[in-house]
Amino acid sequence: MTSEEQSLLHKSAEDRHDFTQEIATCKKMLQLMEWAVKRREAAIAAGKGTAKDLCGYDERLDTVGVRFPFEAFLETPEGKTIFKAGRLDAPLPPSGEDEASSKSETAGNDKAENTDPLTAGMCLKKKCKPHAHWPSILSKNVKHIMKELTIQTREKLNTEERIKDSAASRYRRNSRENNSVVVFDSSESEDSDEEMGGAV
Ligand code: ZN
Repeated sequence: MTSEEQSLLHKSAEDRHDFTQEIATCKKMLQLMEWAVKRREAAIAAGKGTAKDLCGYDERLDTVGVRFPFEAFLETPEGKTIFKAGRLDAPLPPSGEDEASSKSETAGNDKAENTDPLTAGMCLKKKCKPHAHWPSILSKNVKHIMKELTIQTREKLNTEERIKDSAASRYRRNSRENNSVVVFDSSESEDSDEEMGGAV
């Protein structure tokens, strides 16, 4: 195998590793959306709006569909808290403002600052246009990204196979030409060829 082939294979394997990580990130996006949908349903069950009218989009879904901002969000205290709890609750109070969320009884002023633990961070508009159909649009978007990544992974694997096959057949051709008399050599060389392929 030439050094160019080896570096191509190396790069391709790195890309696939990166795709795998991005797919894992996408799954977390879908998970966060699922929790946001549940929280919206809980808010509706508690009489905060109707299933038909309440928007329920959560501001913490803003980076869903954009890999690196979302991964950065996962590293924030907010992101860590959500995924540790396995659910979406009211956003953490902004750092510096201590215990603001304990005054949750003042839920009436949802325009200025919504501190209701059931709906804080949530868009409470009725028939909200900017966020219309957010669950289906966001999940369609994320699933499309995942599908593309799966296709790209398969293409990378196919290319890697082609590179390995052509290197192997070139190797066999060369050893046949060089050792046309000795049969054992050619089978030995195929063995060592496979070892090389496996080590990459
Ligand atoms: Zn909205």
